[in-house]
Amino acid sequence: MTSILTLCGEHGGGQLLRSALALSLITGQAFRMTGIRGQRPKPGLMRQHLTCVKAAAGIGGAGVEGAEIGSTELLFSPGAVVGGDFSFAIGSGGSTTLVLQTLLPALLHAACPSTLRIEGGTHNPFAPPFEFIRHCYLPVLGKMGVHAEVTLERPGFMQAGGGMLTASIVPVKKWRKLHLTERGEAVETFGRVMQAHLSNDIARRGIATASRVLNWPEDRFEIHDATDSAGPGGIILLGARFANVCEISSGVAQMGKSVESIASGAAKGLRGYLASSAPIGAHLADQLLLPMALAGGGEIHTLAITHHTRTNIALIEQFLPVNFTVEDLGQGVKAVRCDER
Ligand code: ATP
Repeated sequence: MTSILTLCGEHGGGQLLRSALALSLITGQAFRMTGIRGQRPKPGLMRQHLTCVKAAAGIGGAGVEGAEIGSTELLFSPGAVVGGDFSFAIGSGGSTTLVLQTLLPALLHAACPSTLRIEGGTHNPFAPPFEFIRHCYLPVLGKMGVHAEVTLERPGFMQAGGGMLTASIVPVKKWRKLHLTERGEAVETFGRVMQAHLSNDIARRGIATASRVLNWPEDRFEIHDATDSAGPGGIILLGARFANVCEISSGVAQMGKSVESIASGAAKGLRGYLASSAPIGAHLADQLLLPMALAGGGEIHTLAITHHTRTNIALIEQFLPVNFTVEDLGQGVKAVRCDER
């Protein structure tokens, strides 16, 4: 009988589960995770996590025990990932981009190309918005030898969902190690409000706040009315593109939070990034660890080492023969290095 890797999900969020699913599909290593999202207010699998489990099982012919809402323990025994055309619906406004990030690494290791269609939320709090995947995450993976494209078919916001993204994914021939330690020349900065079924006055108030915090003219912002979205919602996306990398700081409209506080949070995020010289923002850093490990090494310079980054490193090192090290380079820049063991 093959061994089962035992993992503790207690000290992390859904990301630990998603990384474990991706790595299990790639390595063929079965795992049992206990204490899933153990310290969250509502521990265990929520609908988005459950979709990730079922979708991972679907693309990899896996056997699963414990795939239920609220379950804090999961046994996942992977089969082979062949590739093909897949469609998944979260059945709520849960994040489609997080489902994509779970499946992408395994489909990059599949025998043949794939297409994915994922329905749910495309612009969620606490998850990469679609534009982050398109402009920040995938272009960096492109430097590593990845050919994958995403299309926003229809935006979807919490709670209604109803959004859809599609992806086309070509198996990676040979991973290239990532060395992303410089931003390169500044290319552009941009601001965009995308909103659905909300008054333009709300977008204008968000823009006024962000333009004040960033000291940008208001005509640098554009407003996009997402009339095809099933329910109301909105997001402010603030970006800075350099020759080697693009960063987007965002804020999603949420009940009980003023548009001013959401826009101000996003603008302060980008202001902090622009004040530093590190190419990789805190969110992108935790998302690049898994591809770096699959490439067998690399180095990135980032602004901050978050809890997500630490817990994800510990998990990846349990699956793959790599070691990560973190070095403080001063002036708010940290180097994250990955080496084969
Ligand atoms: P939990 O509810 O347990 O926190 P989760 O499944 O919602 O679980 P996390 O484990 O918190 O997810 O992981 C969220 C992921 O989304 C991380 O990779 C994080 O970097 C990324 N993320 C969150 N907010 C943003 C953002 N504004 N822009 C880009 N990426 C983001």
